[in-house]
Amino acid sequence: MTHKKLSANKTIALVAHDHRKDDLIKWATANKDALSQHSLIATGTTGRLLEEHLGLPIKRLLSGPLGGDQQIGALIAQSEIDVLIFFWDPMEAQPHDPDVKALLRVGIVWNIPMACDVATADFLISSPYMKSTYNAALTDYDEYKNRKL
Ligand code: PGA
Repeated sequence: MTHKKLSANKTIALVAHDHRKDDLIKWATANKDALSQHSLIATGTTGRLLEEHLGLPIKRLLSGPLGGDQQIGALIAQSEIDVLIFFWDPMEAQPHDPDVKALLRVGIVWNIPMACDVATADFLISSPYMKSTYNAALTDYDEYKNRKL
């Protein structure tokens, strides 16, 4: 088991499917002060709406169905994202469902704190670890990387 040290200033990725965008905007507005302490990054449309409502700087990637979810996943794999707030829609199939699954999967691979609903997002944002350094345990994938084929 190895570790990755997260700094007190986190990079938080925010993503919401269309029918969950209102929930995310409401949650982010209620937690604007806490979010302003961190660096924010989002998929295209989510980022535009959050910028409009929060007035905070947000790095915007491509729209999710156009590759934005994959960009967030790649940044997680590169240790450039610490926390993922991902309000995915449980009631409607998405055209980019494989990307959604891939993003959730890579978050687990790299032990990223992930919130997919408002209650978990509330627990996460109020955690003392959000304001302090945190040693995230990382699975040692050396055996996998060095496997004999
Ligand atoms: P969007 O993408 O923020 O560009 O709407 C979100 C998603 O569907 O993954």
